[in-house]
Amino acid sequence: MKRNFKYIFVLILLAVAVISWREAFGRDRDKLKFYMLDVGQGDAIFIETPSGNQILFDGGQDRKILEELGKVMPFYDRSIDLVILTHPHLDHAGGLLEVLKNYEVGELMDGGDSYNLAEYGELKKLMEEKKIKYEVARRGLKISLDKGISLLVLAPDKLIKSDNPHDNNVVSRLSYGRIDFLLMGDGEKGEELKLVQAGDNLESEVLKVGHHGSKTSSNPLFLEEVNPEYALISVGAKNRYGHPAQITLDNLLAAGAKILRTDIDSIIEFKTDGDSLTLVGEK
Ligand SMILES: [Zn+2]
Repeated sequence: MKRNFKYIFVLILLAVAVISWREAFGRDRDKLKFYMLDVGQGDAIFIETPSGNQILFDGGQDRKILEELGKVMPFYDRSIDLVILTHPHLDHAGGLLEVLKNYEVGELMDGGDSYNLAEYGELKKLMEEKKIKYEVARRGLKISLDKGISLLVLAPDKLIKSDNPHDNNVVSRLSYGRIDFLLMGDGEKGEELKLVQAGDNLESEVLKVGHHGSKTSSNPLFLEEVNPEYALISVGAKNRYGHPAQITLDNLLAAGAKILRTDIDSIIEFKTDGDSLTLVGEK
């Protein structure tokens, strides 16, 4: 009898835990949630659509991604629908290895670059072992993420033979109603100007600033086209590259953007119903 009570007590505790997690994560069901995670020096963006489809862009450089995902995903959710690697540099690809080991990933997409990074090789191997669907991102590819929500790939338009993975960096624009997020990966000035010259509609409420706010990105001509309300910089505190550059911060401010940085603001979270955009936690 005593034992039965123990079991019942544990069951009640479990039920309470599940209900409170559902409460915490189940609100705003009609909203798209966008998180720029705080992975230190690197990039990682997690998106959840109103129907619960989950997309992860890059995974930072190491296991920290697991900690960060744990903050935005309920503990019982062990799958991610789509993982997009913008380019195989360690600070974007390293953590994805941990993601593939710890989550069931539906599909992986990248720019098709066969860059010689040990972790990237391991990632590809693991992808094959786990039989994860693989797709190369190419300009013009439009992925429907949910009703009224799409992701349009703007770059690369073809595979460039190069030692620099930034030459095959994936750029995409996430659109929900009148709200757009431009995700630049490590896109630099050359890539920005190419997009401007192609006449793409770049106007976006949120710009994920290219290459951690380095001085080689965020050209004023490009910023004029994007006209961002918010500029997000994913950067490690006191990183050895000196990111972000003062000139880039000045350019972003001159373009009228509010700057948010993971080294100062930690996780940056937006919610949108496709009409209005809310920066969660803004006072
Ligand atoms: Zn890079």
